[in-house]
Amino acid sequence: MTGEVAARAAKGFTAEYGDRPAGSWAAPGRVNLIGEHTDYNDGFVLPFALPQLTVVAAAPVEERRWTVWSEQSGEQISFDGSALRPGAVPDWGAYVAGVVWALADAGFDVPGARLAIASDVPLGAGLSSSAALESAVLTALVDLGGLELPVDDRPAVAQRAENVYAGAPTGIMDQSASIRCREGHALFLDCRSLAVEQIPFDCAAAGLAVLVIDTRAPHRHVGGEYAARRAACEAAAERLGVPALRDVAFEELDAALARLDDPVVRRRARHVVTENRRVLDTVELLRVDRIREIGPLLTASHASMRNDFEITVPEVDTAVEAALAAGAYGARMTGGGFGGCVLALVDASAADAVAAAVADAYAARGFAAPLSFTVTPGPGATRLD
Ligand code: ADP
Ligand code: MG
Repeated sequence: MTGEVAARAAKGFTAEYGDRPAGSWAAPGRVNLIGEHTDYNDGFVLPFALPQLTVVAAAPVEERRWTVWSEQSGEQISFDGSALRPGAVPDWGAYVAGVVWALADAGFDVPGARLAIASDVPLGAGLSSSAALESAVLTALVDLGGLELPVDDRPAVAQRAENVYAGAPTGIMDQSASIRCREGHALFLDCRSLAVEQIPFDCAAAGLAVLVIDTRAPHRHVGGEYAARRAACEAAAERLGVPALRDVAFEELDAALARLDDPVVRRRARHVVTENRRVLDTVELLRVDRIREIGPLLTASHASMRNDFEITVPEVDTAVEAALAAGAYGARMTGGGFGGCVLALVDASAADAVAAAVADAYAARGFAAPLSFTVTPGPGATRLD
């Protein structure tokens, strides 16, 4: 799979610019095993990198100009140093210009470049094609310019590109996953300290698989709902007198909830505090190789997102219910919500049957057909050649 998407990027480069790239760089999309809406609450997440990659074929140029082609849009855009302020480059180009801007803003002398991009990460499905794009471009520019930016510090730069330049107020998880994940592992990330621990997650060895179901449900009101969830979490933390909901211990949850008068804010806080606990419990099980037993935690996470955080939609709930009815050990929505993907932990031998059961449930309810595939944890951003 890597070879194919890399070949498309290289071919695109030659078609657009008439010569060969100096190299190519890849960064993966991600799926979050557990820990949803915990990142901006200074909490814990446990994503792993997808085998699906975004590849950037690139070559440096003398002047301070960046020319970018993407297979997805089929168009070429170009900007120079004057575009290095948020808002100057719109649409998908903002994710690329944002990386150049964020690097320059961090004091780096960013090399001008021609870039050609191809990707196997589904766009807008909650698998973080945006972070894959930022991370691939960032890794390419850092290498081309010989910039001294330690790997551990790169996610925050890519996140600024997304938050400030592209204007999407996301947490640190996606870029951390795309850059810092390791093959065969899930990334246990403390979103406050940014400390990470690589947790072995070898489903195949246990006869298991993670089935990803792209519900293809249209995203509804995502931006406004996301902002509202963040605001509710901040309100809860403020009322409780803590810097973030991360600081509410699971053991103190009942006492904390009793101090929150607004029932909506109370439910939002309960999701975050219990979700942090579920991440920690999942990590403990994976450490001792009890993978199957994380199933109920995944399903409990989904119930919490549905009932307390209220970020699921009928397509998502249907996929979870159908997967569980077909024998999945656990299933949950993954990603920000209001559509996107569901993941299910299944016996490897049952993956096709579970996918078929979900497709049947969709057909019965008149939903557009979902797209299901199994995934294994791949490596983070890297130079390919
Ligand atoms: P997600 O990150 O879950 O896929 P987002 O809405 O955060 O969804 O990001 C999707 C957007 O990122 C696309 O609409 C597009 O603007 C941009 N994008 C991602 N990958 C590419 C790509 N390969 N080429 C062009 N734009 C891309
Ligand atoms: Mg995104």
